[in-house]
Amino acid sequence: MNLLKRLWGRTTLDGEKLAASDDLQEYAQIHLLAEFVETRPLHSTADQQRWNRVLPRPYQETIQLFQKQGWLEANTLDQYRVTPAGRPFVQRYRERLEAEKAAILPQVRQALEARDTSEALEIRRRYEARFPLGKADWTGPEPQLNHSALTRRILFLDHWLLEGLSLETVEWLKLYAAEQHLWGAQWRLSPQEIPAHVEQELATSGLDPVEATFWKAQQLILYVENHDTWQRCKGGDHVRRMEIVGPDDEHTCEHCRQFRGQEFLVARVPELPHRDCTSIVGCRCRYEPVLEVDDEDGL
Ligand SMILES: [Zn+2]
Repeated sequence: MNLLKRLWGRTTLDGEKLAASDDLQEYAQIHLLAEFVETRPLHSTADQQRWNRVLPRPYQETIQLFQKQGWLEANTLDQYRVTPAGRPFVQRYRERLEAEKAAILPQVRQALEARDTSEALEIRRRYEARFPLGKADWTGPEPQLNHSALTRRILFLDHWLLEGLSLETVEWLKLYAAEQHLWGAQWRLSPQEIPAHVEQELATSGLDPVEATFWKAQQLILYVENHDTWQRCKGGDHVRRMEIVGPDDEHTCEHCRQFRGQEFLVARVPELPHRDCTSIVGCRCRYEPVLEVDDEDGL
């Protein structure tokens, strides 16, 4: 133990090298360091165990090693923070992550343009597998089994939400929606990313082009997700009722508000989105399966 302690006491880490390394064990250390940019306590025991699986040394040892390098400091409340000496490595690592994100997005977009949603999801999985804990910080939860099938439904959607739009605009919107759905993330575009024809066709909605395209795309995603929820509830024996849920804010219209929190038998549930919704961002209502508490008790 003493010998180990001495050896380990002398360990010097090369932050630049670790931040740029292709070896998961190496860059995982800077990834961990980066978690302490904002002052915070150590990770939960469960998370420490997950980190143990990817770090070259156990989590606790790694933290102590960071402190020895002068990269991390603890305050009297046992909260940790990256020091000015550690910051350049975190910065270098973040730039690297940004570059990787910028490189992967077009690859997924290309697969979606080819309508190959399985391939698009494969690219996402390969990208996320490179993260120490298997997940990027900007993507959605672990995709469900039918995730790429739902993304595909967006690309082939035929719905009144798209009425009155040119084919060109419809295709553009579907791609924007499918991309967000595939990643499980939401983002607004910059005005330069929105083609003139899309801008013109969506300009009537009372929103600027960035907001108009964002909300229209959200509508497509929400429709596909709602439809899927409804189909699964209808096809199964476990759910008899669905609740209509949704935000209650300045964009919630009176029509949608009257349905909020109401439960319906699956066969009688109103269709979403509400056609009579008058919100400028569109109907944001969603179906929530109602779990039957009595059935659970019987088990
Ligand atoms: Zn609604």
